Amino acid sequence: MAENLNLLTSTQEVIKEALNKLGYDEAMYELLKEPLRLLKVRIPVKMDDGTTKVFTGFRAQHSDAVGPTKGGIRFHPDVTEEEVKALSMWMTLKCGIVDLPYGGGKGGIVCDPRQMSMGELERLSRGYVRAVSQIVGPTKDIPAPDVFTNAQIMAWMMDEYSRMDEFNSPGFITGKPIVLGGSQGRDRATAEGVTIVIQEAAKKRGIDIKGARVVIQGFGNAGSFLAKFMSDLGAKVIGISDAYGALYDPEGLDIDYLLDRRDSFGTVTTLFESTITNKELLELDCDILVPAAIENQITAENAHNIKAQIVVEAANGPTTAEATKILTERGILLVPDVLASAGGVTVSYFEWVQNNQGYYWSKEEVREKLHKKMVDAFENVYNTAQSRNINMRLAAYMVGVRRTAEASRFRGWV
Ligand code: GLU
Repeated sequence: MAENLNLLTSTQEVIKEALNKLGYDEAMYELLKEPLRLLKVRIPVKMDDGTTKVFTGFRAQHSDAVGPTKGGIRFHPDVTEEEVKALSMWMTLKCGIVDLPYGGGKGGIVCDPRQMSMGELERLSRGYVRAVSQIVGPTKDIPAPDVFTNAQIMAWMMDEYSRMDEFNSPGFITGKPIVLGGSQGRDRATAEGVTIVIQEAAKKRGIDIKGARVVIQGFGNAGSFLAKFMSDLGAKVIGISDAYGALYDPEGLDIDYLLDRRDSFGTVTTLFESTITNKELLELDCDILVPAAIENQITAENAHNIKAQIVVEAANGPTTAEATKILTERGILLVPDVLASAGGVTVSYFEWVQNNQGYYWSKEEVREKLHKKMVDAFENVYNTAQSRNINMRLAAYMVGVRRTAEASRFRGWV
């Protein structure tokens, strides 16, 4: 039978199993198997050449039982309704795992920002906010950056919302530039969270980070900061990649040089002649492998060839269900996406809290609070996996979905 690469149905299967293990019946699964709300919009944008192009966008809100929904907006040619739905469900799980008072949401626009001018991107960003304005807001649904969106895009979106609202509304969106109410440390938060769980996972496996061989797939926001943090900790980053290829040096790559040369979409390998493929990168002999790029990278096909002792998912959905099984059976410690990449939304929450109170924290305060959230979350998921003798993904889903299920029951929905 062909492997299930469908993000939505494979997520539903694990949610079902997690609810089952927690003792919830079919009715709770019926409620949580899909987002409560999904808005599909068409956004007309005047392009620089004078033509009008109509873009398709989505906003999914999985559950608002715990609180407002929260999650990024992705700009990518491959965005689909199903993907946005699955991503909104993962946000519910992430918020549950790091214990933030939110449910999950996610947005996406089918577009290729690499082919668009700044003016076109601004008009698209503002058009999206106008199109979804009825269902978003600082106490309803709070967007943030995701693949190919950044602080500038958040700034345009915040400005558009504030104009419509006729108030300055920094709490409408997170991941803003610092001068517009962004939080210290938000830009590097996902990578910092991944670094913390790598350190925790390494302790469990008796691996010394100093000198550990690390391979990172993807050199975008998460992957590039992560490479820097790992090399600063004394690890040897022996492989990195972007969408076009991968670089490998068994002695360790010069990360500062690569950071200096990458473009704003994380492309750097095109500058080199001697590259390997992304497929070869994943199978390199290393201690820690971090898929930090796109979905369905570790599958039944290559899971047997993974040589790392620890796999930490910094991307959303890089490992299939079948591959999760294989890695677990092989004794590889898999730290799932909904735990590993929760640092971003955690500092987004801190940003929103700071916007609401109008008082801003120092870098150190943010870092300390993020550290505690991630360490507690790792311990909770690890201990659940150990005590129930289940894999880390199922454990993370159990921890992540529990609160939303309980809140739904208290509200009398199920
Ligand atoms: N897009 C990020 C994620 O997938 C961050 C979401 C947020 O900060 O709300 O976790």
